[in-house]
Amino acid sequence: MEKYLQVKATNPEILEKAENGGAVTSLLKFLLESNTVEGVLNIKKEKDVYDGIPTFTTDPDELIETAGSLHCAPTMISDIIARHLKDEKIAVTTKPCDAMAIDEIIKRCGINRDNVYMIGLNCGGTVQPIVAEKMIKLFYDINPEEVVSEEINKGKFIVELADGTEKSVKIDDLEDEGYGRRENCQRCELKIPRKADVACGNWGSSKGYTFVEINTPKGEQLIQNAIDNGYIEAKEASEKQIKIRKKVENIMIKMAKKTQKKQLIKEYPDEMSEIFTRCLKCYRCRDVCPVCNCKVCSLEKPYYEEDPFAEPDPLMLHAIRMGHMAFSCINCGQCEDVCPMEIPLSKIFQKVQLKYREETGYISGVTEDKPMMYSGEKEEIVE
Ligand SMILES: Cc1cc2nc3c(=O)[nH]c(=O)nc-3n(C[C@H](O)[C@H](O)[C@H](O)COP(=O)(O)OP(=O)(O)OC[C@H]3O[C@@H](n4cnc5c(N)ncnc54)[C@H](O)[C@@H]3O)c2cc1C
Ligand code: SF4
Ligand code: SF4
Ligand code: SF4
Repeated sequence: MEKYLQVKATNPEILEKAENGGAVTSLLKFLLESNTVEGVLNIKKEKDVYDGIPTFTTDPDELIETAGSLHCAPTMISDIIARHLKDEKIAVTTKPCDAMAIDEIIKRCGINRDNVYMIGLNCGGTVQPIVAEKMIKLFYDINPEEVVSEEINKGKFIVELADGTEKSVKIDDLEDEGYGRRENCQRCELKIPRKADVACGNWGSSKGYTFVEINTPKGEQLIQNAIDNGYIEAKEASEKQIKIRKKVENIMIKMAKKTQKKQLIKEYPDEMSEIFTRCLKCYRCRDVCPVCNCKVCSLEKPYYEEDPFAEPDPLMLHAIRMGHMAFSCINCGQCEDVCPMEIPLSKIFQKVQLKYREETGYISGVTEDKPMMYSGEKEEIVE
């Protein structure tokens, strides 16, 4: 749609707590107070900045507690909608990977797009909470418990203490030592969630404002209604601001492609039997994958006539998962995060998706049509 705005909350409490201009919290509050949605699914800080948890809020007064960005919260929230909220009218905050996952689940008929307001967040990457704590001890020489907020800005991971002191280290330096953003985030090339109704971020924004790109007519109407009802004020983004944002986006995409080459260099699928012999068949990778949503999972069907309860061997397990969803892998990294045997799952699956993309042009979570390898069997979704 190519509509770009600088947006600011009118509520001072939101402005105080928000990451940038409080556009996201204001839009969510408007959607709840106008009864456009029944609830909001987003991320809330619990104990500390390493403890971001998905939360479903129906009380607009409680939304203020969810304002602010948590970079150490890699949690996907899309499959929560498919599993628990698919009949509700909701608003959800979506990083690009969340938006891509929702798109893939929509293609599998798990979520009705009309029921969902997607308030997108641009994303430069997330850090594993445990890695973040270790990294802060090691590189910042401070007790991670003393950190009250963190942000990623201008290529640096910045932490703030209660007395206002800030310490920062270059992301490149952290990543060279195996810390910093998760590896899948380093390879992630979708930085602005254009499948969301609006995409919000700080790139190109004036101080105290959120830069909002409007992506859908629904998003456009939402912004207009929020302005008319006094929740936000908005001004057009200047040509210069739009250019700056585009430039940063392009740099991030270029860096991700470079990292893909570096990290995906091994010919994984050829070495599959070697890698997968480590697999314990704990099924965590399947359970956490936002794209895996079949009602009756093929991995639970009997495979051996003489023993109907036998599970597939590890190689077959992964071959089945690959055949069912690798072409739709959105590189969220969750499978690799949870694998107790440190199998490089998201690298393997992303590599297959990129190969499939090369052959068919299908970009998971982005291309409008269903993938060519999609079959009706996958239309059955967990209830
Ligand atoms: C991990 C992460 C990385 C980001 N990287 C960039 C970037 O590189 N460039 C850029 O332009 N913008 C980035 N953003 C977006 C930016 O930080 C702000 O969220 C955005 O500008 C909106 O600001 P706001 O004041 O309107 O939001 P607020 O009113 O403060 O609302 C923020 C909303 O985000 C939700 N939220 C917080 N953490 C998460 C999370 N991990 N996953 C899903 N929802 C969450 C909160 O629950 C809240 O509803 C990033 C955001 C996140 C969460
Ligand atoms: S995979 Fe991409 S969108 Fe998702 S958290 Fe990582 S960088 Fe952000
Ligand atoms: S295979 Fe792994 S990286 Fe790909 S979508 Fe599933 S959980 Fe995410
Ligand atoms: S999480 Fe790891 S060990 Fe468990 S089934 Fe998946 S690949 Fe195997």
